[in-house]
Amino acid sequence: MSKTATIIGGGHNGLVCACYLARAGLDVTILERRSIVGGAAVTEEFHPGYRNSAASYTVSLLHPKVISDLHLHDHGMKILERRVNNYLPLSSGDSLISYPDANQFHSEIARFSAQDVRQLKKYNETLDAVVPVIKDLMLVTPPSIVDHGFADISRYFHLSKQFRKLNTSQKRLLLRLFSISAGEMLDDTFESDPIKALFGFDAIVGHFASPYAPGSAYVLLHHLVGEVNGKQGLWGHSVGGMGAITQAMAREATSLGVKIELEAEVENLEISHKKVQGITLKSGRVIKSDITVANVNPKLLFSDLIEASDLSGDTKSHFDTYKCQSGTFRMNVALSALPNFAARTAPHVLEAGIIMAPSLDYMDKAFTDARLGGWSQQPIVEMLIPSIVDDSLAPAGHHVASLFCQQFDPSLGQNWDLHREKVADLILNTVEEYAPGFKQTIIARQIHSPWDLEQKFGLNGGDIFHGRLSLDQLFSARPMLGIGDYHTEFKNLYLCGSGTHPGGGVSGLPGHNAAREIIRSL
Ligand SMILES: Cc1cc2nc3c(=O)[nH]c(=O)nc-3n(C[C@H](O)[C@H](O)[C@H](O)COP(=O)(O)OP(=O)(O)OC[C@H]3O[C@@H](n4cnc5c(N)ncnc54)[C@H](O)[C@@H]3O)c2cc1C
Repeated sequence: MSKTATIIGGGHNGLVCACYLARAGLDVTILERRSIVGGAAVTEEFHPGYRNSAASYTVSLLHPKVISDLHLHDHGMKILERRVNNYLPLSSGDSLISYPDANQFHSEIARFSAQDVRQLKKYNETLDAVVPVIKDLMLVTPPSIVDHGFADISRYFHLSKQFRKLNTSQKRLLLRLFSISAGEMLDDTFESDPIKALFGFDAIVGHFASPYAPGSAYVLLHHLVGEVNGKQGLWGHSVGGMGAITQAMAREATSLGVKIELEAEVENLEISHKKVQGITLKSGRVIKSDITVANVNPKLLFSDLIEASDLSGDTKSHFDTYKCQSGTFRMNVALSALPNFAARTAPHVLEAGIIMAPSLDYMDKAFTDARLGGWSQQPIVEMLIPSIVDDSLAPAGHHVASLFCQQFDPSLGQNWDLHREKVADLILNTVEEYAPGFKQTIIARQIHSPWDLEQKFGLNGGDIFHGRLSLDQLFSARPMLGIGDYHTEFKNLYLCGSGTHPGGGVSGLPGHNAAREIIRSL
């Protein structure tokens, strides 16, 4: 008889892991708390006739191996490329537009600084050396440096073919980029504020910190490793929203015999002799399984689902202070018309990720304000209007927009219930300043404060990545030194969510890598 594996959580990583385990002959069941699979990658009808991705909203990190192994295109997934990457409107009336085409982009940069055009070449050379190494390492199980010491780290890097190709100065640079701030990296390279803001925005996405916080350069790099339809660094749109990706994954899982149970919230794990003996659902049902795999945030697993008395003191104290704090505020709006930006525009700019945050100083201040007072009166807002390229999302002539806003203090917790509506108004007023008349076109809105993200999606601290992407919580240390290889201190309990290497984003890689380790240990 096949061994049984039960996955707690039907997020995209749980689905990916389930597919690989089922293909290896295991009898797999997914237990999902909500009435829909997909976790933070779901599409919702948030107003009659208006649908949009509810949390994650744009695709790049989804790994081509996962796409191919799970036959996602055959199951209906379609990713569209956007003709403009980013649009940064400025209050001066000018704007900076980032195009996928290098020549067009250089012309844009030249409008701000001739020196920055030359520097862009240097910047791209740096990224071209470093990004492939990070990409390689994302597929490698981090070594447990607890067993073999820090020498393992150098062995780990050498597992990357791309790392072995680097010369000494590139290796030095790579290590530097893991620890410095994005602000430092960008100030050392460029002179123009809008250009630094355009690149620096990626460093504070889902990262409750200043762009000048040490380690934020890595967060920036984390957002650059992806691709769309084989084109490096692009971000694209999933037709039908992000839910179309996870529905395609669910179809593959079902075709492989995976059983998916919805509204099956796990309340606790019965543990004895350092093994999971039973999985207790909120309904009271107890499930016995040879293997248990947690797709949930590791803090949720180790703080809420396992009794403290069953944990080693080490694990308990680690997860008491494990950092989950994206500081993200996410809204959807239904629109009767497209916005008109007051700043300089160009064809197709409304297809872009529209960044309303003109400088690194603006982003730094937004963080400081949020740390001191919950949020900034001048918030960081990115807007994307997916219905421009996807008419399945809104009635003809109407639109939906995703608003992804950074630096909103997650530690306010449930107090966000008191502030949610006025902060939503502040965000919409910010867009209105750039696009007069925008507010009049709003038909409906959906709001997810950091607290809402925690309550609805099970994202502790509203953390979109299941844990801060900082050096102390990355690679072998994700989520904790000693269990960075998807194992835990319990023999038959594994981890497969974004709280494991290589971290957050809709990549499928934690699920892919975890399945490989589980199959190896059978
Ligand atoms: C607002 C927001 C915007 C984002 N934007 C992007 C983006 O544009 N692009 C991108 O690539 N990434 C983005 N991300 C990050 C990305 O969505 C996540 O990192 C990723 O979806 C996490 O996937 P996962 O499978 O690891 O976990 P999750 O998606 O969190 O899945 C975990 C699952 O476990 C379930 N669960 C929780 N508790 C229990 C329980 N007790 N019993 C049973 N089930 C349980 C949850 O309901 C959930 O379905 C964003 C995230 C958020 C929140």
